[in-house]
Amino acid sequence: MRLAELGEFGLIDRIRARFPQPAPPELGIGDDAALLSPSAGMQLVVSTDLLAEGVHFERSFGQLHLLGRKSLAVNLSDLAAMGARSRWFFLSLAIPAGFPLDEIEALLDGLAEQAAEHGVLLAGGDTCGSKSGLVISVTIMGEQRPELLLRRSGGRPGDDIWVSGTLGDAALGLQLLLNKVEKPDDAATEYVVRRHLNPTPRCGFGQAVAEAGLASAMIDISDGLLADLGHICEQSGCGAEVTLSLLPVSAAFKACTDSFSPFPWALAISGGEDYELCFTAPTDKRAAILERAKTAGIPATVVGKLTDSGGVVARLPDGSIFQPSTSGYTHF
Ligand code: ADP
Ligand code: MG
Repeated sequence: MRLAELGEFGLIDRIRARFPQPAPPELGIGDDAALLSPSAGMQLVVSTDLLAEGVHFERSFGQLHLLGRKSLAVNLSDLAAMGARSRWFFLSLAIPAGFPLDEIEALLDGLAEQAAEHGVLLAGGDTCGSKSGLVISVTIMGEQRPELLLRRSGGRPGDDIWVSGTLGDAALGLQLLLNKVEKPDDAATEYVVRRHLNPTPRCGFGQAVAEAGLASAMIDISDGLLADLGHICEQSGCGAEVTLSLLPVSAAFKACTDSFSPFPWALAISGGEDYELCFTAPTDKRAAILERAKTAGIPATVVGKLTDSGGVVARLPDGSIFQPSTSGYTHF
């Protein structure tokens, strides 16, 4: 069957059949609007993201299943960065006429898999044709007690700067995909490419840090640490000093970049799309934070300190200041 034979409503029926739906009195796909009930005392937390073919992904990477996973992962990551629990999402698709139906099915499989792993329900969306490439928009909704939500604006001078997981993998993976670079260490190449195509949102950890009241500000690292920590600084009215030698990098990252000289700081500090969390916290919270990271099964690392003012300064091991050539991806 082709998409043209299935039609818009046939496709929506297929989508509905594939995703478990909210139970009454809630209402998901099928009416003019969804009906959702946040838990008592909870604030609604909502975020939306757009992924466009040729801008955020290339179909030549050929893995619509992973793209489905990623399009939900980036939204889950936004809610994790607020310390919220994700509950529902909406999926809007603009699909070029003649787009292979099996690739749409693969995309939906990836979305359904990620949704099941994180216990989020598809509650609706919109579907239309596209004149230029596939466009996927996901809107996610979640909840948290208002006093626990973490904004970008709560950082204070003297706070530790933390990052979850490892940095630079996704940017390196993308570079390898784009350059089709052949590397001797195949497992390492595979790992970093996977980190680009299939990022893991740090939902449990973000929520745990928020619920224990450990952080002062939090953001997810989608545009690179330098850019995203910059947002915390702007909104908290602080500066930041990052020590580059403290940046956590994976063994695979090291294996793939060991031949680079000097150490590729730029990728770890400016490379985007790791979807790790960056947060700030008073120094007396260190032990409690490390305990939450251990429970989540991921590393958490202090990479620097918030300062009074002056933007983000990144220091090299010899004490000199690192000047990146770019500070993250910007559209337009
Ligand atoms: P309207 O014409 O009012 O926009 P639609 O016919 O587009 O309504 O949608 C009918 C139902 O199908 C709605 O519940 C809508 O949320 C759902 N829906 C449409 N497209 C999608 C999609 N891509 N994913 C999930 N639900 C969808
Ligand atoms: Mg519609």
